Order: sequence, then structure tokens, then C-alpha cells
Amino acid sequence: MNVSHLACAACGQSYPPNRLYNLCRQCQKPLLVHYDLDRVALSTPQLADRPASLWRYREVLPVEHTENVVSLGEGWTPLLHAQRLGRQLGLSRLYIKDEALNPTASFKARGMAVAVSMAKELGVKKLAVPSAGNAAGALAAYAARAGLEAHIFMPRDVPLANRLECQYYGARVTLVDGLITDCGRLVAEGQDRQGWFDVSTLKEPYRIEGKKTMGYELAEQLDWQLPDVIVYPTGGGTGLIGMWKAFDEMERLGWIGPGRPRMVSVQAEGCAPIVQALADGARTAAPIAHPHTVAAGLRVPKAIGDFIILDILRRSRGTAVSVSDADLMAAAQQLAAAEGIFPAPEGAACVPALHTLLERGALKPDEQVVAFNTGGGLKYVDVWQP
Ligand SMILES: *Cc1c(COP(=O)(O)O)cnc(C)c1O
Ligand SMILES: [Zn+2]
Repeated sequence: MNVSHLACAACGQSYPPNRLYNLCRQCQKPLLVHYDLDRVALSTPQLADRPASLWRYREVLPVEHTENVVSLGEGWTPLLHAQRLGRQLGLSRLYIKDEALNPTASFKARGMAVAVSMAKELGVKKLAVPSAGNAAGALAAYAARAGLEAHIFMPRDVPLANRLECQYYGARVTLVDGLITDCGRLVAEGQDRQGWFDVSTLKEPYRIEGKKTMGYELAEQLDWQLPDVIVYPTGGGTGLIGMWKAFDEMERLGWIGPGRPRMVSVQAEGCAPIVQALADGARTAAPIAHPHTVAAGLRVPKAIGDFIILDILRRSRGTAVSVSDADLMAAAQQLAAAEGIFPAPEGAACVPALHTLLERGALKPDEQVVAFNTGGGLKYVDVWQP
């Protein structure tokens, strides 16, 4: 295990490895895992023989003992050249990283695989999460796989598939008449009383480690060259923050150079705190009072890692774009028909965003772009056909 320590992303306070953590005890901001990368004796050609899952990057993941790895085959998803959709949009090098192929059909599996493995390693028995959808399903599945309890709080209006899968995975599901923030409050209350460990987005440090493997995979699949632009549907921003972290780690490992993609956050018009904050030149995002969008994964009124997301968008010379529900719903059909990829609404949102970027001149027709389809469309039958 190569973890050297954990450090607060805001105040820098350092914490020893191999312990359970939620937020920084000094400032209540997210902690990030740091590695002693000089000790990592792994070169890129050696990866060829590794398993086709995110555990191929074992040396830069926090789990110490292999027997604690809880896996359902997450990661190593395809990177597909979207030629027909690219032609329709006017992009010659558009690629889609199809995260729908993960267990539970979304990229939440990556984060939960690592978070649940670490929880198991550190002796946790009961896990809890507030979720508007896929995080709940992924936690429920990995908790079942690990033989641990999952306590899930979801707004009553979550997509039906998310509620059903949690119940089938044997999780204790509470439906809440309210928003994700209300669910979060219930988890926080139960944390002390019931002894639950809260695995909310960025409120524990290991989900990010799972999600960062998207950055490692992207580099490996593109033969250790990063694309010009990454387009990412952003709710809590775990994947965006994780990939940026992966790029830094890979550069220090000597696997890639100093170049970075321009990072683009896609949000829904009815909940676009990051788009607003970037436009305002703000360091953090103001909470959205009445968030509304069909894309449940983007219905995050206040991301605890907003300051990290905004910093990455600025440092990469990227941007943030909002799209309407009508446009992302139509785009799901366009993407499905053009490429055979039936996307989650959140993934579909990348398509109108690409259109906007081209229109604004923020993207050139021959640049290499990777858009993330973050989940599978089949989980949203009730959303497509209300
Ligand atoms: C959670 C989720 C998102 C947002 O992911 P973050 O990394 O939290 O920004 C996007 N799409 C889908 C399908 C999701 O489930
Ligand atoms: Zn701190």
C-alpha cells in the first residue's frame, strides 16, 4: 500500500493513512488521498497483463490487503470513436467513454467499489448514503457483495429502477418527501445514533479514488496521450476532481507529460451552480434554491467540492455549459440512434453541450474530445416515458 497520508483540499491539514475519515476536522472540507509515488514500481507496459477492471491500477489505490477488495468487475469501460454523431455535430475526433457498462450501469460503481473495500478493510459494518439515484444502487450492490449493511435515503421521486435495485440488493431504503439535502440531514443524524458510516459524495475520501481511475483508463486507452477536451456531466464533481488528480499522479509517475485537457462541466439549466459561479468569477458556488432537472445525477444544489471543481475548470482553461431538459432528452435519442449507445439523461446532456461549445468557438472541429456517458439509459424507462 502506497498511501503516504491524507490532506484537506482546502486547509492542507494532514492526516495519517489507514483510518476512517469523513471531512476535515479543522474546516469541514473534503480530504484527498496522497501516495508515495516514488515507491510505485509499475511501468505502463506491465499494465498489459492486468485485469480488465479498475484494479489494474492497484498500486495507486488505497486498499492494503487484496482480500478486502470488493469487486463486481468495475472499470475498464470502452472508449468508442463516435464517428456518426461526430459528423452530425461537426467533430472529427469525438470519443465516448461509455460508463454504462459498469456494474449497476453507472460510473458510481467505481467510487463505491473502492469506498466499500476501504470500509471493509477498516472494520465498518453499516454504511449509509443520501442519493438521488445511482449512488444508492451502487452502494447497495457493493454492500451486498461485501456482506455489509446499507442504509439508503432517497427522495420519493427517484427513478423507479434506483429504488427497485436497492430493495433487491437488500438495502434498508427510506423514501423521503424532500430533496437530496433533506436525505443528507437524515444520514448525518443517524451517523451518531446508529453508528453508520456516511459515504456521501466527497464526504469520505475513497470514492474519489475509485472515480479517478477514469483518468488512468483514458490515458492508457489513448496510448498515454490525453485528449484536447473532456466533457463531463457534473453533479458533485467526483469524477472531474478524480481525473484531474489522476493526471497529476500519472505525470509524477512519468506516464504522461505536463499537458492537460480543457475540462468542461455540463450542468442542467434548472441546476447549474458551477456554470453560474464560473460566470461570476466566484471561488465557491451559491446553492440553488429550487433545483429541477430530469437528470437526477445533476440535481446537486450545492457541491461540497465546488471550490475544487471551479479551480480545475479555470486552471485547465476549460469552461462550464448548461443545457435544457428538452435538449438533453432529445439528445438521448440522437446518441442512441447514431451510435447504438442508449445514454443516461446526464450522459445525453454532453451532446447539446458539445453543440454549444462549437457555436461559441470554445471547441475546434478537429480537436480530440472525450464525452462521458455516465450511465445506462435502461435505468430511466419512467423518465423517458413519464
Ligand atoms: C452521479 C451521477 C453524475 C454526476 O457525477 P459526479 O461525479 O458526482 O459529478 C452524472 N451522471 C450520472 C448518471 C450519475 O449517476
Ligand atoms: Zn481542512
